[in-house]
Amino acid sequence: MTENSKNQVKKLLHGGCHCGAIQFEALVDITQPLLQCNCSICSMTGFIHLFVPHQDFQLQQGLDQLTSYQFNTAQANHLFCSVCGVKSFYQPRSHPKSWSINAHCLKNFDFNMAVIKTFDGQNWEQAQAEMDQP
Ligand SMILES: [Zn+2]
Repeated sequence: MTENSKNQVKKLLHGGCHCGAIQFEALVDITQPLLQCNCSICSMTGFIHLFVPHQDFQLQQGLDQLTSYQFNTAQANHLFCSVCGVKSFYQPRSHPKSWSINAHCLKNFDFNMAVIKTFDGQNWEQAQAEMDQP
């Protein structure tokens, strides 16, 4: 673990999909609140968001197994495993320079330490504007 001036605590986390075809590691700020979103796709999949900058994420295995699903504005790129169907990480619309990892898909992450906040994805523009305020 490393600490920086913003009081982030970064930890190297390992994750992947159910069948193991997709494997990644990411240096994640584990002090960030997890986001639970109520939009059409997050509510169906039960996705719990943990954001990591693109440069702190390494896909170790499974690039050729990833399938993309896009809808609506197509700014998000929903990536899921073509073998087991699990969406372990994807490109969110809200954080264009980060991946969003599904906290359920991490092997060494302690849910008991995490704060979960709700994100009103059904009213995306308003929720995004409120989130960007300091
Ligand atoms: Zn899989």
